[in-house]
Amino acid sequence: MRKNDLVVVCGAGGFIGGALVADLRRRGVRRIRAVDCKPQSAWFQRFDDVDNRVLDLQRREACVEALQGADACYNLAADMGGMGFIELNKARCMLSVLINTHLLEAARTLGVPRFFFASSACVYPGYRQQDPDIPGLAEADAYPADPEDGYGWEKLFSERMCRHFHEDFGIECRIARFHNVYGPFGTYDGGREKAPAAICRKVIDARRTGSGTIEIWGDGQQTRSFMYIDDCIEGIGRLMDSDVRDPINIGSDEMVTINQLVSVVEDIAGVSLRREYQLSAPKGVRGRSSDNMMIRRELGWAPSTSLRAGIEKTYAWIFEQMVGDSPAQRDRLARAS
Ligand code: NAD
Repeated sequence: MRKNDLVVVCGAGGFIGGALVADLRRRGVRRIRAVDCKPQSAWFQRFDDVDNRVLDLQRREACVEALQGADACYNLAADMGGMGFIELNKARCMLSVLINTHLLEAARTLGVPRFFFASSACVYPGYRQQDPDIPGLAEADAYPADPEDGYGWEKLFSERMCRHFHEDFGIECRIARFHNVYGPFGTYDGGREKAPAAICRKVIDARRTGSGTIEIWGDGQQTRSFMYIDDCIEGIGRLMDSDVRDPINIGSDEMVTINQLVSVVEDIAGVSLRREYQLSAPKGVRGRSSDNMMIRRELGWAPSTSLRAGIEKTYAWIFEQMVGDSPAQRDRLARAS
């Protein structure tokens, strides 16, 4: 990418989009347009030297406005959340197909040459994720298709649309299948949060209230891998600079049970809580991790931040948001742990 290119980040008010804008600025990209449908006051990260626009990208005209003059488009906009959200909002998740479709169409008519699409590990079939102790999911495992209902079908369809927009119209598309991304400047409450942020929040809450308990969705034996946001952003940059046109995993291969994730957070917080398992809560597939053979082969790199190191930074940020810097609160928490 040239320093004077106009780069458009869609979903820039969200967790990954905000981190991407911050990184592009750090890397010296001078012309950035940041787009999101949320009011700017609700963006996780917002920069005054960026062309910030509030647009609903499910609308075709909004996508045309967003991509005017663009040299590259990063599509990180989607109506999504953790398991609690995607299991109960399948139609809303599928409506994000409008965002990617209108953005691709706008890219085609306006001649935008490069396009990034944020796909997900939720494209992988349920039948490969029924055991907590499974090998990592490799890219070819996505077919025969049986993705997560709603959200996963939308991602799989949009992946294929990107592929055909390259074959038929020559747009250079890069497609990342993210596996559970976490870190500072992301959702940690309100119903859309994912496991790492939710568990940090619950542990902080347990310390605040002195309840001594934590509620865990499922039996805690389900496995996942979690990727720290800095690795995700590094992976996006490397993928965009590459010639890899097929969907590729960007995820950690450090597989842990949810119980182990809770233990990491407890250890950082200096507490040990009684675990209450909510067996009827949304819990997703039984086991999931990333196979990183392809990313190592194609990009010569793979995410490597340890869960412990990433959670330490995430916990500190969520603690700051929830507790602030009130000395009285901090003192009370220190005594509680
Ligand atoms: P996020 O919810 O924090 O960010 C998405 C942003 O898109 C939000 O700010 C939202 O307001 C915006 N948006 C939604 N509908 C829009 C619309 N119609 N017009 C404009 N903006 C709209 O989510 P995130 O974690 O930053 O995820 C970014 C992308 O990565 C999404 O496509 C998501 O599906 C994908 N992904 C994320 C993860 C993860 O663990 N965070 C995992 C796999 C895939």
